[in-house]
Amino acid sequence: MTSIDRQRLNELAHDCGIASIGVTNAEPFDGLGDLLAARIKAGQLRGLDWFTEERARFSADPRNLHATARSIISVGVPYRMAPVACPDDEPRGTISRYAWGDDYHRTLKQRMRELHACLERELGYVIEARFLVDTARIVDRAVAARSGLGWYGKNTLILVPGHGSWVLLGDLVVDIEIEPDEPLRPKCGRCTACIDRCPTGALQPGYIVETPRCISYLTIECRGAIPHELRPLMGRWVFGCDDCQEVCPYTGAASTDEDADFEGRALDNIYPRLRWLLTMTEAEFRETYRGTPVLRTKRAGLARNAAIALGNSGSDADLALLEQVVQTHDVALVRGHAAWAMARIDGAAAAPFLRNQFAQELDEFVRGEIEQVLGCSA
Ligand code: SF4
Ligand code: SF4
Repeated sequence: MTSIDRQRLNELAHDCGIASIGVTNAEPFDGLGDLLAARIKAGQLRGLDWFTEERARFSADPRNLHATARSIISVGVPYRMAPVACPDDEPRGTISRYAWGDDYHRTLKQRMRELHACLERELGYVIEARFLVDTARIVDRAVAARSGLGWYGKNTLILVPGHGSWVLLGDLVVDIEIEPDEPLRPKCGRCTACIDRCPTGALQPGYIVETPRCISYLTIECRGAIPHELRPLMGRWVFGCDDCQEVCPYTGAASTDEDADFEGRALDNIYPRLRWLLTMTEAEFRETYRGTPVLRTKRAGLARNAAIALGNSGSDADLALLEQVVQTHDVALVRGHAAWAMARIDGAAAAPFLRNQFAQELDEFVRGEIEQVLGCSA
């Protein structure tokens, strides 16, 4: 069976909207299972309960999911759109860049399917394939590093030449042999800008991110109350966090891309109005974020995050709306975080209302939040 010329593969990928690719074989990733298992045991992935030790070990060998796999094409689709100005007429939150537009899972799978079809046409035979995006069944960053698509930065992300870390990753696993690429040499050198910038101290030397402290985890995956000590450090982020990418010199030097699939549909998909997030209906949430990654956090999660962001950035002018949220929001999680936000903005001004509300509130979580922000003086 003939295989594909490497240069021709690049051209086909480009035609399918995939800017960068790297190729590696489908051999197991030596030591990766043990490394991930050790991180799970050390609590560094706490909160990602679905990523068990068993799944970690499974993900270290691509042939566990595709027994006849021979090669993996690591695909990179950049998503750094032109900057959008944030109007300052009212408090707004910030959404991580990758979530401004369409859900990347669907977009990347579609582009990999097109590449797969091109490959079959080019070679004239059937190719068995798997199309993987952001799944616990394979470690896409490990594939990207071994295939030379990019190299691991100290922010634990893959840095792709010309694009930095503003790149979405996918894996096209195929049962044909393709000439593999060499891994790239890491280029962080003595730079520690991402570690220094991380607002919560989640990034640590040794290419480690403490998931339970990472704002991306807190705003998206965490379903319950956000730890009090981390809330003031979260700034205006309401979905994800780009701080450790924005300070990276390689990412800063990346060119902007034009890709309609990743452009923000409207300002509320980029810098959403915090007051609106706190009062939006389920129908408004679904209408605004349909087909985007933001749906993952659900209406209650996004409103909870908005309460924290408003607490961190609002003024006394926001206390009346927060009072209304504490009194009437249908989700106790949101009412409790709104009480925190009032105290964060102006504890003295908020105290009489919160004391009164403590006497009326029946939910234990909300009562506990009010007690805590009033210094147990309720
Ligand atoms: Fe830190 Fe934000 Fe990066 Fe998480 S995403 S490691 S919180 S800078
Ligand atoms: Fe590496 Fe510096 Fe970029 Fe962090 S900010 S990933 S240390 S180059």
